[in-house]
Amino acid sequence: MTTLAITDLHVEVDTPEGTVKQILTGVDLTVESGTTHAIMGPNGSGKSTLSYAIAGHPKYRVTQGSITLDGEDLLAMTVDERARAGVFLAMQYPVEVPGVSTSNFLRTAATAVRGEPPKLRHWIKEVKSAMAQLEIDPAFAERSVNEGFSGGEKKRQEVLQLELLKPKIAVLDETDSGLDVDALRVVSDGVNRYQQDNHGGVLLITHYTRILRYIRPEFVHVFVGGRIVESGGPELADELDANGYVRFAQAAV
Ligand code: ADP
Ligand code: MG
Ligand code: MG
Repeated sequence: MTTLAITDLHVEVDTPEGTVKQILTGVDLTVESGTTHAIMGPNGSGKSTLSYAIAGHPKYRVTQGSITLDGEDLLAMTVDERARAGVFLAMQYPVEVPGVSTSNFLRTAATAVRGEPPKLRHWIKEVKSAMAQLEIDPAFAERSVNEGFSGGEKKRQEVLQLELLKPKIAVLDETDSGLDVDALRVVSDGVNRYQQDNHGGVLLITHYTRILRYIRPEFVHVFVGGRIVESGGPELADELDANGYVRFAQAAV
C-alpha cells in the first residue's frame, strides 16, 4: 500500500513580468495505490501547477502545506529522488529531447528508477510488447525523444514510459488532450493495464469527461481557483458534463 498525501498545499510562481503569482490556494488530497482519482477543472485553475509541485519542478514554489509519500517528505526530495520513490508525471506538454533516442532514454530512465539496468533480453521484449500494445510503430524506438512527434504520439510515449517504469503513483496531466477516439482508447487501455498490473495509484488530470468512459475513477474532484472545491464519485463527472463548472466557479470566489 502506498499513500500520496497532499495537505493544505500553497504554491506560487515568479511571473515573467517580475511579480509573484499565487496559484495553488490550499489543496488537500490523498491518493492511495489501487485507486483512481480524477481532477477536473477549467483551464488556468492550476491543475498543471499541482502536477509540477508533486514532481518537483523548481519554478513552482511551495509556500505552505506538505506532500508526503508513505509519510516521507516528498518536498525535501529532488526530482530524481521523487521518481525513484515511485512518483511519475506524464506532462501535459511532453518535452522533446533532440539527439537522444527513445530506446536509450527509456533504458536510462528504467535504470535510474530501478537502481540497476534492466536485463537486456527481457527489456527488449518488454519494450517491444508495450509499444505494440500502444500501437506505436517500432521505428519510433530509434527516433529522438518526442522530436517532431504529433500531440497524440507524444501522449502514447508518456503512457509507454508509465508502463515500463511502473511507478507507485502516476500523475497524468491531460494525457487525453488532443487524442482522437481511437487513440483515446489505446492510451486509456495502457493506463488501465498499468494500474491493474502494478496496483498503481492514478491521479488523472483532465478537463474533458470523455476519458472517464475508459478510465473509471472512484473519486472525482472539482478543481477551481487553485484548490479542490468539491469531491465525490463518478456522478460528479456526469454533473460537470451536463452543467459545466459554473456552480463551482461561483463557490470558489
Ligand atoms: P491548468 O493546468 O489548470 O490550465 P496551470 O497550472 O497551467 O493551470 O496555470 C494556472 C495559472 O497560473 C494560469 O493562469 C497560468 O497562466 C499561471 N501560470 C502557470 N505557470 C506560470 C508561470 N511559470 N508564470 C506565470 N504564470 C503561470
Ligand atoms: Mg491548461
Ligand atoms: Mg494544465
